[in-house]
Amino acid sequence: TSVKVLVCGGAGYIGSHMVRALSRSGHEAVTFDNLVTGHREAVGDSAFILGDLLNTHEIEAAFASHGPFDAVIHLSALSLVGESVADPCRYYLNNVTGTLNLLGTMKAAGVTRLVFSSTAAVFGHPRADLIDEDHPTAPINPYGSSKLMVERILADAAVAYGLRSVSLRYFNAAGASPEGDIGESHQPETHLVPNVLRSAMAGDSRLKVFGADYATRDGTCVRDYVHVDDLAAAHLQSLAFLDKNPGAHAFNLGNGQGFSVLEVIEAAQRVTGKTIARDMVDRRPGDPAVLVASSARARAQLGWSPVYTRIDDIIETAWRWHTQQRY
Ligand code: UDP
Repeated sequence: TSVKVLVCGGAGYIGSHMVRALSRSGHEAVTFDNLVTGHREAVGDSAFILGDLLNTHEIEAAFASHGPFDAVIHLSALSLVGESVADPCRYYLNNVTGTLNLLGTMKAAGVTRLVFSSTAAVFGHPRADLIDEDHPTAPINPYGSSKLMVERILADAAVAYGLRSVSLRYFNAAGASPEGDIGESHQPETHLVPNVLRSAMAGDSRLKVFGADYATRDGTCVRDYVHVDDLAAAHLQSLAFLDKNPGAHAFNLGNGQGFSVLEVIEAAQRVTGKTIARDMVDRRPGDPAVLVASSARARAQLGWSPVYTRIDDIIETAWRWHTQQRY
């Protein structure tokens, strides 16, 4: 059955793919976004409200003008680790207080289903090769802490108010819609895949490899790259899951396979046919050596099964976007 969903952060990288997935599945998406990091062009013709979660009047107005909503998907956040270390209060205000404001408005409006964007950063330095949901949470930066705080708030809200929620801990989101018309666009861009592809396009922009002395197979950090459309699919499955399951739930989302920074560069060279100039530089503070997800629980309980499992296929979709980037 078709549902009407408020998508907070729908103009962002993952949010814009979410909005598209909702409409392709016959649902109605209404985006609420402050456009601090998002792009108006990314939501196309779908309903858009300019507003900020720090302004309760703007959220209430969105519920009044565009509701009633069957559910909320909340992807609004500041998400850069380094920035969060430099200005933690900005991160806690935006990510925690913003979410509290949203929860208050949802409660007043009687909306009881929420899918929340969480992160592998809730785990800090992992103690296992494959991180499952039983792995202890111990964030090592304010960004990860802000997301874990919200997860705890959601657990309490489930008990107190009957709020049903799924927190989805993304590992490394990558790729773009295969149509190539929406994709990742951050200013500044700190993520590996877009930076690698920028270096492939512009010969004068050399990629910095942050650290070649980690205890990994080639000395560079290993990450679990998951396609943005596969992440969007997990949100749709989470909405269906919440129909049958009260409570607060969390799932790790990744491919279960890690690639080093150098392996990502190799893959990008295969996909683009270009040589990617790089410099080995110091480690970036706060980077764990290896982050790879076990997504067994998401597969078993949500029925999630990522379509993009090959790193070359993920990078190929990102390359389509970067060669004709529109915003
Ligand atoms: N990285 C890099 N050069 C860059 C961007 C990232 O070497 O220009 C490395 C980074 O240190 C990490 C990995 O690539 O080991 C993935 O970083 P990203 O910022 O994409 O995601 P994160 O793992 O921080 O969420």
